[in-house]
This record gives sequence, structure tokens and C-alpha cells, in this order.
Amino acid sequence: MILKGKWMILLCLSLLLAGCSGAKPAAEPPAMAEQSDYIFGTLVSLKLYEPVEASVYQAVFDDLRDVENRMTVKGITSELIAVNAAAGTAPVAVSADTFEVLEAAEKYAALSEGAFDATVYPLVALWGIGTDLAQVPSPEEIEVTRQAVGYQDLVLDKAKGTAFLKRPGMGLDLGGIAKGYAADRTARKLKALGVDSGIINLGGNVLALGAKADGSPWRIGIQNPMSDRGEYLGIAAVTNKTVVTSGIYERYFEQEGIRYHHILDPHTGYPSDNNLAGVSILTDSSMDADALSTACFVLGPEKALALAKSLPGVEVLFITKDKKVLMTEGFKAVFTQTDDSFTVVDAL
Ligand code: AMP
Ligand code: MG
Repeated sequence: MILKGKWMILLCLSLLLAGCSGAKPAAEPPAMAEQSDYIFGTLVSLKLYEPVEASVYQAVFDDLRDVENRMTVKGITSELIAVNAAAGTAPVAVSADTFEVLEAAEKYAALSEGAFDATVYPLVALWGIGTDLAQVPSPEEIEVTRQAVGYQDLVLDKAKGTAFLKRPGMGLDLGGIAKGYAADRTARKLKALGVDSGIINLGGNVLALGAKADGSPWRIGIQNPMSDRGEYLGIAAVTNKTVVTSGIYERYFEQEGIRYHHILDPHTGYPSDNNLAGVSILTDSSMDADALSTACFVLGPEKALALAKSLPGVEVLFITKDKKVLMTEGFKAVFTQTDDSFTVVDAL
């Protein structure tokens, strides 16, 4: 009995040694875990390699909720709501973070000649798209409300850290840029917490942090704008880049067979109406990508392409309502089509 036990130990030892000297089994890739929370009126998810302390996810979600509480226009109080309430009356001090986003919004408003305009709030409120009160306003209401929009009448005082809307009835809405800011901020926060690889997804506003554990690029799905969120027409393989899409699928209502979506053309007061169904921007900063995807969507392909090409490191992909896809060279280089009902073209 004892002898048998000794033989067993020897056998185990020799097997162990053989295991050490033989070919190494392929290393298992580390597992990934995903945690989500509902912030900015959308699903925010973090996909990180395990093991990650639960406190990392919590720290990010708490931080984002703090940003939301300062930059939202939905709710009772926020820095933005205070600025809007004081329109035409007085400048209001805002936090450095809100100021930074307002400055970026003004930059993209100027670059897009008002196609992107964070003072679009009066029109957003009038249409109510994404709320139970969504309705098609009368042309008169639209005309009057349109007059209350104009990024040139937002005064930002850097020394005092204040924002001032010159005319009563004006209002700010950072819905077209704040998620991008939040994605960049999350990337910075994760790096500070020692996490340098993962996927940050704020309702389709995606940032690929670093590369995958094996060094290969992340694969980000490009939203099919004719379908619900989560259906892709292709994949972008990227490392340390962001992909942000604006499209007709996100928030809309239908009345008498017409779809009214949430991206408004500040110049007409109506949902932006051209042959685009979606625009994806690929670049380094998610805040830039967010503002640009909204701006390019409103500008339409021709002007948008000119704008994107004037900005170094910005790649763009357009999807038209008749399922054509046009990309800049840098987008083509990382793109793989997965839905062959779309046709990639070289000109629209
Ligand atoms: P996005 O999904 O990033 O394209 O942003 C759309 C959101 O930005 C809308 O839900 C509005 O809150 C706001 N928005 C709508 N139209 C514009 C516009 N022309 N410029 C800036 N923000 C806009
Ligand atoms: Mg945007």
C-alpha cells in the first residue's frame, strides 16, 4: 500500500517535470468583464481585462454621474441649467470641466459655421424629441425659436470662468459633445487607476483604450444607422482611438410616415435633412469626434468632407440613406465591411 503511494508520487513528479521541459501550452487570454450603468440618458459600459477591482468601475461611474449632474439640461439643477436661467441677465460661474466643454463647443460651432451649435437648446426643447412630448411644431413656432439660437451670443470669460448667454430665451445643450468629453475623461481616469486597456462605450460613443492584451487592435462595430443600436455594417480595427457615430437611429419619432430625428439643423430649425443616415468619426479625442459627428451630419457629405480633411488626424465615414458608404483613406485602412447590403463607393 505504502509502496504504491510512493510510485504514485514519483509518477506525478515525472509528469510535472515533463510538463516543464516540454512545449508550453498556449497562454489563455485574460478574461474580460463588462459593467454598465445608466448615465447621460444612455447605457455607459466599461469592458476591462480581469482582474480589476470593483472600485475601479465604481470610481468611473461616480465620476461620470458627477459630470452629468453639472452638464445636464434635464433635471432641476445643474451648471448648465443655471447658465440658461440667467440668459440675457448675468454671467454664471461654471466648473473648469464645463468651461472646457463649452470652449470646445464654441470651437466646433465656428469651424462648422453653426452646423454644430450648443445653443440649440430652445429648438431641442420645442421639438421634445426623445421625450413623451415629442411633436412637430408649427412653422411659426420654429421660426421664432430659431431666433433664440446662435453660438456667437455665448460669451465665455476664461479669467472669470463664466458663461453668459446674451439674449433672454437662449439656452445651452451639450448633448452633442458631452458624451465624448466623458469618454476621454474616463480614459484619463482609468489610466490614473492603472488600467491601460479596455473599451469605453457611452451609448455608441466608443473609445478603445490601448490595444488588446495580446497587442492586437480592438474591433469597434460601426453602427448600421438603418437598424437599432448594436447592429453593425462593418468593423474598425483600432488601437487608442475613438469612433463616434451620429445618426437617424438614435432618438426619433414618426408622424404621418415621416421620421423626425434628434439632430437639428440650427439654420432651419428642423431635423437635419440631407441624404445622410449616419456619420462616423475616427480620431484620437472622443470630444472632438462627438462634436464633429454631429457637425458633419448636419453639414452633409460635401461640406463635411472638406471640414474633416482640413483637420489633421480626423477620419470620416458617411452612410447615405440609399446604403452607400464613403470613407476617407484613413478610415478605409482600418475598416472591414460585415453587412454586404451596403455598397462602398469612392464618390457620392
Ligand atoms: P449626437 O448624438 O452627438 O449627434 O448629438 C445629438 C444631440 O445633441 C441631440 O440629442 C441634442 O441634445 C443635441 N443637438 C441636436 N442638434 C444639435 C446641433 N446641431 N448642434 C449641437 N447639438 C445638437
Ligand atoms: Mg455628437
